[in-house]
This record gives sequence, C-alpha cells and structure tokens, in this order.
Amino acid sequence: MGVPTLGCDCPVCISDDPRDRRLRPSVLLRWNDSGHNSGRECVVVIDTGPDFREQALRYGLTRVDAVFYTHSHADHILGMDDLRPLSFKSFREDGPIPLYAAPEAAEVLERIFDYTFSPDSTYRTRARVQLQPLAERTVLHGVELLRVPVMHGDMEIAGFRFGRAAYLTDVSDIPESSFALLEGLDHLVISALRYKPHPSHATVEQALAWAKRIGAGHTWFTHISHDLGHEQTNRTLPENIRLAYDGLSLPVNVGAAR
Ligand SMILES: [Zn+2]
Ligand SMILES: [Zn+2]
Repeated sequence: MGVPTLGCDCPVCISDDPRDRRLRPSVLLRWNDSGHNSGRECVVVIDTGPDFREQALRYGLTRVDAVFYTHSHADHILGMDDLRPLSFKSFREDGPIPLYAAPEAAEVLERIFDYTFSPDSTYRTRARVQLQPLAERTVLHGVELLRVPVMHGDMEIAGFRFGRAAYLTDVSDIPESSFALLEGLDHLVISALRYKPHPSHATVEQALAWAKRIGAGHTWFTHISHDLGHEQTNRTLPENIRLAYDGLSLPVNVGAAR
C-alpha cells in the first residue's frame, strides 16, 4: 500500500524519518557490459509498480534494457505504461523493451494493458515493449538472472537471483527446491510485511527464520507495511539483518555468466 498508508495517522505513517516513507517495491540493476558491447551500461528493472515513474525520476533512470516481473499484482505492474518515453528512445536502437513474465503475469499484463499489447490496438503511441516468456535462466549482456520460485498465498511467483544476490518479494512460503538456488549469497532481499500473520505474506518472524537458514552475508527486508517503524524494528533484528529503505544501493558480485 505504500507508507504513509492512505488515511492512516499511525506513528510510522506520520514519522519524519525518511526511511519510513516507502514507495512500492522494485529493484534497479545496473552494470557495465563486459561483452561485445563493452563499456555500455545495462539497466534492468524488476517490477514496474504504481510508483515506477517517481522512482525513475528520483534515481536517475534514463534507459531500460529489460523488465522482469515477479507477479501480476497491482503494486508490481501498474506503472508499466510509464515505460513509454524510455521505450520510444530505446526502440530506435534496440527494438522493443523485453518484458519477461511467467504466463499468469503475462496474461494479466495483456488484459490490463490491452491497448498496448492487442494486435488490434489503434493506439499509436503505445509503449514499445514485448512480452517474453520467463525462463529458468536468462542471460542478458553477460549477467545471468535465475528464476527462484516462491509461493505468494496459493500462487507461485518469481524471485530472482543475480550473482551473489537474490530478490524475493511477496513471499509466504519457499519451496524446498528453491533453497538450493539461494546458496552462497552476499545479499538477500526478502519481503517481511509485519508481525501479524497475513494469508499471502511472511511475517517478520518467518522471514527471519528463512534469512537465518539461507545465511546470506546481509539480509534486507522489503515490502514492509506501516506496522514496522524503521529504527524501532532494526533494534530488534540481528546485526546482519536490516530493513531496506527507498534508495538503498548495494554493490553485487555478478561474476561471469557461463
Ligand atoms: Zn502480491
Ligand atoms: Zn506486493
């Protein structure tokens, strides 16, 4: 819902700590291509929620090479249309921006943004984007993204691993087979909504247990509701487990894709 949450005046929603102001969750990956486009900056976004435009302005996003979707809920997709100006720009050099999505997410994107994807669309300034099936493993400009299946209520959605970091949002359970994809991480970003149980999101306690089992050097909680104040919650967590905050930036070792 974002923090402040509309209509709420709880201590976290009225807090003046900037880390208590939370736009909807998203990740920006940037790296320099070491392959045949040597030196060129590559930019990948995971999820374009309703705050995508604001985030793009705030963090200086001027191009996008690809978008990966975790799932099709509103807080993860509704900003897709704001790719339009960036897509016009990149279309001239590289063609449409690929949007990697599992079948369920692709279907919802096609329905909601019918004027973008329908072959019958007469909307001439639609985003120059193209849905692509989400594979187990995608290599883009020398970096490998692995799909890490997680459960979100009764829906299987996608988490991602890139090098020695992983991003798992909207998690309510982690299938046993996914733990093998999460070994040897320097950074784990994982959702932890609040203390109270929720049908499709992990509590802080569940996320803590997974964080300890996965054993990343650093764990960052994201997708945080207004029940969790930044400072107060951090005081209760182990030293290498912290709440993430808008604008948090982490160097990630992505190694060389085979
Ligand atoms: Zn969701
Ligand atoms: Zn969500």
